[in-house]
This record gives sequence, structure tokens and C-alpha cells, in this order.
Amino acid sequence: GVSYYQVTQRNVRRESAATAFLRPPRPNLTIQTRAIATRVLLAKGRATGIEYIQNGKRVQAHAEREVILSGGAVNSPKILLLSGVGPADELKALGITVEHNLPGVGRNFQDHMDVYLAASSSKPISYNGHDRWNRALLHGIQYLLYKTGPVTASVCEAGCFLKSSPEVRSPDIQIHCLPAYVVDHGRMTIKGHGLTINTCNLRPRSIGSITLRSSDPFDDPAIDPNFLDDPNDLSVSMEGFKWGRRILGAPSFRQYIDKEILPGPEAQSEEEIGAYIRKWAKNDYHPVGSCKMGTDDEAVVDTQLRVRGIQALRVIDASIMPRLISGNTQATSIMIGEKGAALIREPG
Ligand SMILES: Cc1cc2nc3c(=O)[nH]c(=O)nc-3n(C[C@H](O)[C@H](O)[C@H](O)COP(=O)(O)OP(=O)(O)OC[C@H]3O[C@@H](n4cnc5c(N)ncnc54)[C@H](O)[C@@H]3O)c2cc1C
Repeated sequence: GVSYYQVTQRNVRRESAATAFLRPPRPNLTIQTRAIATRVLLAKGRATGIEYIQNGKRVQAHAEREVILSGGAVNSPKILLLSGVGPADELKALGITVEHNLPGVGRNFQDHMDVYLAASSSKPISYNGHDRWNRALLHGIQYLLYKTGPVTASVCEAGCFLKSSPEVRSPDIQIHCLPAYVVDHGRMTIKGHGLTINTCNLRPRSIGSITLRSSDPFDDPAIDPNFLDDPNDLSVSMEGFKWGRRILGAPSFRQYIDKEILPGPEAQSEEEIGAYIRKWAKNDYHPVGSCKMGTDDEAVVDTQLRVRGIQALRVIDASIMPRLISGNTQATSIMIGEKGAALIREPG
């Protein structure tokens, strides 16, 4: 299907899990900000609290019932590993005391990989340049007065879901159409007006990992999505790329598009397109799977989202997804939060 994308907004303002669930403030909830959780406190195989650093001070919070980790697919496994819950060999190599050998922590990591095409436009119709201070000021005033204009836009305006071949059970390619240059995560500036088509393999077979670099909680973990490890992923990305090019070449775009900038018309053969994909593909910010739910040896949480082998500890976030979903992950993550909350409230 083809459509405009839905966005999470309320009263023409961006909505987040924080604005939707934490406001107005709840009397039974204390939020510590500027606090970095460093480990789960464990005693005799049971989670008893959490240790965190706040304003340079080490603080402990104790739990009467249970501890919930919701650090996301990068940080929930990181905190478990720092707490001594994970693959024993990996922990020992870093000098971390093994509290519980749980081989799947940080494994099964997956993310969507984007391949984009960018084209220049001869007409001044894109968002490029609208963040310059003089224009931004006008857009800000327009938003304040009328709640309209570019300030309300998501930039990822429209898209579609497609099948890489008739044999696949449901669409395995997603396309985002952005009326602006958004190249290299927006870090590369290209002058003039243009648009970007992002194409994404929705069900990658390549599996990556999250691992600690050291036992220092302030060290970022190593994030390895292992993109294109499975050869099938390159074939699907190639199909997505071809769809992107087909869309750019559609008659309705002709009056707006000047020429393809990335990869450029010279990339035509499978080898040239493959080389472009390997060089320019990026993640789609959909990390999941590193504390997967299940019953096999690599599962980290059970179907109640309880960490296997540790009492009174759950993980409730995108890391519990066994496989990537065939679309953007935010709504599903919120659903996991809702379901997790219901599981906590269930008696027993
Ligand atoms: C740039 C970007 C763009 C995205 N765009 C979209 C989109 O358009 N549509 C869509 O559907 N999805 C999008 N996503 C994906 C979506 O945001 C995620 O799937 C979703 O937020 C995952 O929810 P989560 O609860 O698992 O983790 P998160 O939302 O990452 O929440 C984890 C929280 O834990 C906190 N935390 C982590 N470690 C610690 C620690 N040690 N101590 C204390 N707190 C900690 C973090 O600050 C964060 O608040 C995007 C993601 C990114 C990064």
C-alpha cells in the first residue's frame, strides 16, 4: 500500500511516551533525571534494586517487588552484562563477576538497513534551507499563530510497502519519501533543493550483537548490526533500490526532478549498485532483539518478560522482540510497554 505516514502528535505537537504517559505527574511515581543506571543489584539470584550515578554520586534504589529494565535494545543488554548477567566467557574476559550465565544477552541484535537515493530538484519546493535562521523564524511565527507550516512536518511524509518478489508472504520492502536531502543521517549538506527516497529491507536475516567494550558503565557498548552478513539481505536491498529508482523515474515526478545525485546515473550494473549499497547504507534506527523473548537457549526473557534464571527482574522494551517487525518500531515498543505493564499487574 501507499500512503502518507501517521505521526505521533497531539494538538499539533510531537507526542512521546513521556508526554503521553508521564504527564500530568503521578503521585505514586518518582522520576530521577540525569541518572545513569549502572547495574542491577542482585542477591541470591534475585533482583533487589538498581545502582545509578547521579551528579557524580553512586546511589542505590531498592525494590520491594521487582526491577524493570527499559533501557532500549542497546542499553538493557548493557546493564544486564554490567550486572554479571550474560555469556559467562564474555563477562569473565572483562573481569565482571558472573552472577548468572545467560548466553543470549546482547545476541540476536537486529536493525533495519536503509539504502537511499537522492535527486536534485530544479524547483524550490523542498524543505532544504528552511532551517536557516530567517526562514526558521518565520516558520516559528507561523506555527505559533496558526499551528501550520513546516514546523508541524515529520519530513518523512509518505511511503509504501512492497514485495521484493511475488513469493514473499507480505511486503518486505518499505519506502520513505522525504522532500529534502537527508544524506548520511543528515550530516552531509548538499546545496540546493532535493528529495530522498529511503528503501528498507524489512525482514533482514543478518543477526548482530551488543557487547561491552569494558566493565566501565560509561563506555559505550559495541553495536554491530552485522548488516549484509546473509547474502539474501543484499538481494532484497537491491530490489528495494530498484523500486526507489522506479519511483524517482515516475512521470508525476518528472516536472520536479532535475537529476539523480546519489548514487547517480552511472551506477547501473548489479556490481555498481551493490558497491553503492555497501558504502552508503545506514541503519534505520530500529534496534531490537538483544534480550529476546522465548523459550530456546538464547532467550533472555520468558513470555512474561521475566529474565530467565533471575527472580524479580523483567526487561520491557524493544530488546525483547525475537524478530524485527515489518515496519517502524515505535508503536510496537509502546505496545510492549503496555503489555508489560499489564503483566506486572497480573496477580502471581
Ligand atoms: C533517530 C531515531 C528516529 C526514529 N524514528 C522513528 C520513526 O519515525 N517511527 C518509529 O516507529 N520509530 C522510530 N524510531 C524507533 C523508536 O524510537 C524505537 O523503536 C523506540 O523508541 C524503542 O523504545 P524502547 O523503549 O525500546 O527504547 P528507548 O525509546 O530508546 O528508551 C530507552 C530509555 O532508557 C534510557 N536509558 C538508557 N540507558 C539508561 C541508563 N543506563 N540509565 C538510565 N536511563 C537509561 C534512555 O535515555 C531512554 O529514555 C526512531 C529511533 C531513532 C533513534
